[in-house]
Amino acid sequence: MIKNTLIPQTYRGRFAPSPTGALHFGSLVTAMAGYLEAKSKNGEWLVRIENLDKPREVPKASYEILKSLEIFGMEWDHEVIYQDQREHIYENVLINLKKRGLTYPCTCTRKKIFNSSITGINGKIYAGTCRNKTWNIRNSDAVRIKTNNSAIEFNDALYGEVNQKLENEIGDFILRRSDKIYSYHLAVVIDDAAQGITNIVRGADLLYSTPSQIYLQKLLGYSTPAYMHLPIALNNQGEKLSKQTKAARLNLSNPSKQLFNAASFLGQKPPIELLRDNVLSFWKWAFLNWSSDKIYKTSNFSLARIKKSNA
Ligand code: GLU
Ligand code: ZN
Repeated sequence: MIKNTLIPQTYRGRFAPSPTGALHFGSLVTAMAGYLEAKSKNGEWLVRIENLDKPREVPKASYEILKSLEIFGMEWDHEVIYQDQREHIYENVLINLKKRGLTYPCTCTRKKIFNSSITGINGKIYAGTCRNKTWNIRNSDAVRIKTNNSAIEFNDALYGEVNQKLENEIGDFILRRSDKIYSYHLAVVIDDAAQGITNIVRGADLLYSTPSQIYLQKLLGYSTPAYMHLPIALNNQGEKLSKQTKAARLNLSNPSKQLFNAASFLGQKPPIELLRDNVLSFWKWAFLNWSSDKIYKTSNFSLARIKKSNA
């Protein structure tokens, strides 16, 4: 067979940490799976720092995250992008959606929403209280997108089919908060499109956020990437490892051990000798042996647990 050398490189993945703290074991798992998926498909792997939520940003965390990736031997392609440099782009998209009558201002307090809404699969379902507000959106208003109930479906590489009716199950979600911070959903969709991301690998805590993102992609004429959501690393209390649950930062003095543990978590069964070997030997082994089919689909892969952690 003749190989067509003009076929452009197709796979492009990314790692999109929020600099709310140093990397912990859960972030290493996500980075590793995304990196190995990309490299096993001859693809590219980009890094984007999601630092829009300034009140939650920890000084130097971005720098430390990138430094840690280097110490762990993960080499990203292209330049790292920072979301706080891109606010004008998010603003323009918001203007476009507003002109099309797809957004509205919301003045509900957190408390009001908390008390008056039912809890769905991904948290409180906003009841659309402010949908009929027609005034021009003020700086102090939150901005919501109008959703509807046409089914949004996607096929996750590990979880299989996910199906959601946004209006009933999620509600009109926020695009810009009342403190003027652009929402994760808005920014992630714009940036994945801008960076030409074809494949998204991330934690399963975002599984039920994906239909909202697909909805925005459709409204904005972007293509929808393929998704692979990963089992979530939990602590002894069954909570997701995160800054909020005080997950320990990764020990950078023994990266081989951390890599070994992350690969084991991902069901890859690395040989025990790698524990005492260097980072390069780990990746040499991992590039040859990685298979997402080996990721455990039991225990930690329980949807019930994920639902609970989001409630
Ligand atoms: N910044 C998000 C987080 O750290 C990840 C977003 C994503 O991968 O879509 O949880
Ligand atoms: Zn409202």
